[in-house]
Amino acid sequence: MKTSVIKGLGVFIAMSYLVLLIAAWFIDTIALFFAYCILVGVIIAFFKGRLWCNWICPRGQLADYLLIKISRRKPYPESLKNTTLQFLIMFFISSVLIYNVIINWGNWVAVSRVFLTLITFTTIIAALIGILFKPRSWCNICSIATIIKYASLKKGEKQEVIEDKEDYLEKHKDEFK
Ligand code: SF4
Repeated sequence: MKTSVIKGLGVFIAMSYLVLLIAAWFIDTIALFFAYCILVGVIIAFFKGRLWCNWICPRGQLADYLLIKISRRKPYPESLKNTTLQFLIMFFISSVLIYNVIINWGNWVAVSRVFLTLITFTTIIAALIGILFKPRSWCNICSIATIIKYASLKKGEKQEVIEDKEDYLEKHKDEFK
């Protein structure tokens, strides 16, 4: 696939994510789509590792193609790579999500709101640290990243996220023709 097509798809995914996130605050149950995304992301991540992160994840594409334009691109604190912190965030987010989904089960508008609130909150945090540091700083503490790192069946494969997509595509342009 050509780099221009890859970039075009990335921008499309990123823009669609933003539009959907805003629309979900006005149209009930749209945010259930995010539940589907999380599920698909976890499944792909479990079997294919960073394939999901590097090329499909809407938040990753948002960082690669939009956030990068306003990011200071400074190195992020090493503490973001701390295993305890990564697990704490994963357990906290999973617990909040599962608990709220269970108590609202059957009321799909309420369940949708649970996902929407969580996705909006984490997107704001991801954007803030992505502006302060490198665009993909959030990817260090993302729960899916933690799953990939410690539970992915793709052990031994390259597990690192591509932090600078522009640079990566330029260096590997011969592979994308
Ligand atoms: S680490 Fe999380 S936010 Fe980053 S690309 Fe992967 S799934 Fe998306």
